[in-house]
Amino acid sequence: MTFDYDKFMKGVGLYEEANRRRDNLEFDFAFSLYERAQELLFGRVDIPLFYDMAIAADLSGDFGRANEYFKKCCVSLEQMKADNPYDERINNLQPLVDSLADQISERKMVDNNATDYANQIQRRVWQHHNFPLTIWIADKASQHDGFDDGVSDLIFDAFRKWSNRCQWFQVARANKADEGIAKIVIKQASPGDLQSGSGGQTKFTPNHGENPTRADIRVYIPNSDLASLTSDQKRVFQSLILHEAGHALGIDGHSPFADDLMWWKSPLLEISSRDVETMKIIYGQ
Ligand SMILES: [Zn+2]
Repeated sequence: MTFDYDKFMKGVGLYEEANRRRDNLEFDFAFSLYERAQELLFGRVDIPLFYDMAIAADLSGDFGRANEYFKKCCVSLEQMKADNPYDERINNLQPLVDSLADQISERKMVDNNATDYANQIQRRVWQHHNFPLTIWIADKASQHDGFDDGVSDLIFDAFRKWSNRCQWFQVARANKADEGIAKIVIKQASPGDLQSGSGGQTKFTPNHGENPTRADIRVYIPNSDLASLTSDQKRVFQSLILHEAGHALGIDGHSPFADDLMWWKSPLLEISSRDVETMKIIYGQ
């Protein structure tokens, strides 16, 4: 059989559209696209495809189905290793499968009626004398890893969304010259900053312990001008920065529940009541 490049590329397009529909919470549509994509992709991308289908199933609230796709993902990886014993590149897919394995095993242990997940995360509680937390956002006029004013406002809005739900948080925009004394610093991620499959990361100073003195957020954005982002790109970025703000404000780790913003792959644009409850518990509110 000769390889049909056009058919394959059509499959890639359907696969990408399926992920977009999933992140828009249109699950039935997403699954029909994944299945059509799979036929066109000749099994060549089964591992990431099953991985994304598992995430879609979990997000839709069907943990049993997520588990089935996860098993298919593992079987495909083992099959691929067996078929290509000398191809080292296959090992690059192992971390993807492992990260899914971690999520699935964590999910099995949680109580579905839980109203918080404070015991599943590491606490990074800002002490009161740090308030208002000053938020410094890199400006593209002077920083290569900065954002334009429109994107900077989106970023600050994410922090305001948290402080609206968790009223003890006080946040303020830092002055341009104050990066060194700001509490939370946000810049664009550079290649190599992020783990594969991840759009953002938050690092704390000090590295260990419960009370941070500074948090550094790096986020991926396809374009640092708001006007150049498509509506999908804008939505993905808003979800990402709201999620990273949740990390920086105190939740170092992830919710095991797919309907929380702090779930590892959340595409949501709202903070859930479980997210708020978790924040309340760690701050003793
Ligand atoms: Zn996260």
